Amino acid sequence: MPQAQIIDGKAIAESVREEIRNRAASLLETTGKRPGLAVVLVGEDPASQVYVRNKDRAAEACGFHSVKHTLPADTSEADVLALVSELNDADDIHGILVQLPLPGHIDESKVLRLIRPDKDVDGFHPINVGLLTAGERDSALVPCTPAGSLVLLKRTLGETLSGKSAVVVGRSNIVGKPMASLLLQESCTVTIAHSRTRDLPDVVRSANIVVAAVGRPEMIKGDWIKDGATVIDVGINRIPAPDLGPDKTRLVGDVAFEEALGHAGAITPVPGGVGPMTIAMLMVNTQTAARRLMGLPDDK
Ligand code: NDP
Repeated sequence: MPQAQIIDGKAIAESVREEIRNRAASLLETTGKRPGLAVVLVGEDPASQVYVRNKDRAAEACGFHSVKHTLPADTSEADVLALVSELNDADDIHGILVQLPLPGHIDESKVLRLIRPDKDVDGFHPINVGLLTAGERDSALVPCTPAGSLVLLKRTLGETLSGKSAVVVGRSNIVGKPMASLLLQESCTVTIAHSRTRDLPDVVRSANIVVAAVGRPEMIKGDWIKDGATVIDVGINRIPAPDLGPDKTRLVGDVAFEEALGHAGAITPVPGGVGPMTIAMLMVNTQTAARRLMGLPDDK
């Protein structure tokens, strides 16, 4: 059976970051200014700490001005809102990211809605959601994971996705829905599947492009994949790996990777596929926000 091409998300993410580094250097040369990213972390969630550290490091590696605000878990909602307001007004900050989840006593949507839409580099503000849905992607800031998934698709299939059938499995606000909007704007024929979808294997089998964003380890089986389809596996699931030793775990996606290799034309691995693109696209969004706030045209 032919083996699928494995899409090297790590290498593609590195090339995107390299491009951003170069553009940040020329921005500094022409304006004397750097894109500025502020990341806010409330509490001590270990996974969030790792994400925030990685984002901060990536921003510094791109030559950005990077600020990290780490607040204790019992910080009041009012204090978080006050910090966001301060960052909204800060001239040297162009991107604000509040790491989710926030502790239970803080209303997440209240915090996210306070972030200025033109500094909302996560793309979660209703204004950005609305712009993307209305087909005005070029004025929006687009959520990083779906934006990165689209870059992987374009680098794999070429610029034209027009006319292809795409199935997005998952309808979350951070991945599934914005992914579907992006594919629709690329003139794909898009189906959004979810936990109530009937005959999911057949729905998936109908697609030239499959984006899996479910959060269930290896749920999408190899024989659900149409021969030659391109598969983007967004899922990151940690499962026990007794073969590696007691208490050991490994990361797997939402697609049964080994099985899918025999059917797909191209597929992203987990890890090393979509994951690295998410942070790369955060850098893209921060640079885009900075250029817009400086009154400069978007880099194409
Ligand atoms: P959510 O839990 O918010 O959404 C999961 C979606 O999958 C829901 O729409 C749900 O449907 C659907 N679903 C659940 N079970 C089934 C099923 N049996 N059949 C069909 N659909 C099902 O997850 P996220 O969108 O936040 O994340 C999805 C995955 O992507 C996770 O593994 C997450 O870790 C990963 N992720 C990876 C990122 C990266 O950087 N690579 C970034 C963000 C997420 P319904 O709405 O009906 O409940």
